[in-house]
Amino acid sequence: MAEQRDAGALALVDIAPAHADEIEWSIDSAAELYRIRGWGDDFFFVNPDGKVAVQTNPNEPAIVIADVVEDLRERNIAFPVLIRFQDVLRARVVRMNVAFADAIAEAGYANRYRGVYPIKVNQLHEVVEEVLEAGKPYGLGLECGSKAELIAALPHMEDDEALLICNGVKDAMMLRLMLAAQQIGKNVIPVVEKYHEFDKIQALGREVNVSPRFGARIRLGTSGSGKWADSGGDLSKFGISVPELMLLVEKMTAAGMPDGLALLHFHLGSQIADIQIVKQAVKEITHIYAQLAKRGLGIRYLDVGGGLGVNYGAGYSGADVGINYTLQEYANAIVYTIKEVCEAEEVAVPTIVSESGRGITAHHSVLVVPVLGAYRKDRIDPRFKAGRKDHAVIRALYKTLAHLQSLPGPKGPPRMYELLEAYHDAVEKREEADTLFSYGYLTLEDKATAERLYWSVCARIRTLVVQFEFHEPIPGELQALDEHLVDQYLCDFSIFQSILDHWSIGQGFPIMPLERLDEPPLRRAMLVDLTCDSDGKVSHYVSSNPDKRFLPVHRISDGQPYYLGFFLMGAYQDIMGDSHNLFGRVAEAHVYADAAEPDGYYIEKIIAGTTVQDMLATVQYFPNDLHRRMNEIIRQKIEAGVIRPKAGVELLEQYMRAFGATTYYDAND
Ligand SMILES: *Cc1c(COP(=O)(O)O)cnc(C)c1O
Repeated sequence: MAEQRDAGALALVDIAPAHADEIEWSIDSAAELYRIRGWGDDFFFVNPDGKVAVQTNPNEPAIVIADVVEDLRERNIAFPVLIRFQDVLRARVVRMNVAFADAIAEAGYANRYRGVYPIKVNQLHEVVEEVLEAGKPYGLGLECGSKAELIAALPHMEDDEALLICNGVKDAMMLRLMLAAQQIGKNVIPVVEKYHEFDKIQALGREVNVSPRFGARIRLGTSGSGKWADSGGDLSKFGISVPELMLLVEKMTAAGMPDGLALLHFHLGSQIADIQIVKQAVKEITHIYAQLAKRGLGIRYLDVGGGLGVNYGAGYSGADVGINYTLQEYANAIVYTIKEVCEAEEVAVPTIVSESGRGITAHHSVLVVPVLGAYRKDRIDPRFKAGRKDHAVIRALYKTLAHLQSLPGPKGPPRMYELLEAYHDAVEKREEADTLFSYGYLTLEDKATAERLYWSVCARIRTLVVQFEFHEPIPGELQALDEHLVDQYLCDFSIFQSILDHWSIGQGFPIMPLERLDEPPLRRAMLVDLTCDSDGKVSHYVSSNPDKRFLPVHRISDGQPYYLGFFLMGAYQDIMGDSHNLFGRVAEAHVYADAAEPDGYYIEKIIAGTTVQDMLATVQYFPNDLHRRMNEIIRQKIEAGVIRPKAGVELLEQYMRAFGATTYYDAND
């Protein structure tokens, strides 16, 4: 026997269009449904017109994202487009520095904070320049982890005091360059990740006759948590152990250079979920710092690495890694922990360095993706009644539906076998309808009615399955109904290019419609991308909906563009994206707020997306060769009389024009 469940659990799970007017809806409901206050960090909100807007502070105008989209459409920019809100980027830099400054002031901490921006999070030149400019008043520096990053970063170190911290594996060419930069007075610090790097730095220092300054990455006992946990702890591939550190200190003291070790560093991995882990790691490294300081080593900097998390999951648990702290709590935890340990050990407090990347860049960019079409599972109008003039197959489906609607009947809750039987009947009748149609015995209207009835039967079964608690397992076929019942919305983008972390490690990103938020979203959709890969879909969503496998969306109508915003895209995603199916980098627009402009913003720059030609070159196809081959095929067909020469020339031209096209579906075409 089954028992009835609380109806509340059903509230938003299954909204059929028939219920539209019964739903009380406001822009607040939309904000709550998509959890915008949870992840939006006060930058994003739903405006009174039901559109998503961006505002960094009350003195700046709010930018309506749909206005920017309209603007880009008028300029014929091919979507998808990544919009960078440069004011948001600057605001995050400022907030980060202010959080540490406030913590330092409140704690009475007798030293300062110096952040560095790890460029691997987003190396785009404009992003790095914007971050540096916003960070100038705070002495913000950079962090690099490879040769190319070092070469990109070095000329941006205008301020002699700002740090350039070099992590990662470093060859002699890189180390020489770093020492040369030290010689001209730049604050460049190579961080020793492996013990032998220390010997190499010493040897190179002797070569050029300088006494090198360097840092050491310490392998702590504390390890991170969540999806990137292996960056710290014993399993980490990075860092030197405490015994190695002691060896290094002995060598340095023996060589009479106790001030060479300028910085101690750890990095626990990205997106640390739990503030206790931060505190524990900071405590551990500060004790190491204090012990070394007491031995007379002049360590100036304590570098707590990256890992400051972003609230992608908007405070909801489940598949997403949430974080349990705010930016201010993070800064407080670090400042107070270092202060307490140093006071207890009676040593001077160091300059605090942190390397937050995700925390700085994630919020500023929004990927705007057009929905190209919907595969809908339309239900039957609730007023529909099958009569004698209807086809037998329709009457049969209707009968099944009517029976399900009469449940629970006088005999009590439905039985599982009853539901399964009804499902099998419906499947059989739908197949029959398809066969009849293909032999011409059913009109197109009748086929549509049969299909609607079929989906109504499925929906009713699903409702009953959810509504009652059965004491037997739910058969696989009925469990699968959930997925069959939702619409598929085909989106003009590639998961593998634009949200790689969703596919690879299941990271959830907030996604929501950019307008019509004053209307209840009555469809439940799964978003699928353009790639021919069955993994090319978004498998879970951020919402207050109990079922996170679907996104509530609006019904789309032909000719009416519908855009979804993918938020918090600014960290890692656009730089890691891969070229599955040869979809390339998307176009970008850089937007600044400006109260003097009619819509409160201006587009400073548009960077075109990768063309077909660019994309092909990465896998060694080049226009000359392809042109020659295509030309040869056409020539043969002309010779064989299959086409006229003029048509052949046109075909070749048509083919060659595609080289300059977007790799995505071009709705402007
Ligand atoms: C990746 C990385 C960072 C940035 O981490 P976030 O989690 O993005 O803040 C900082 N330091 C090092 C050494 C890194 O490898």
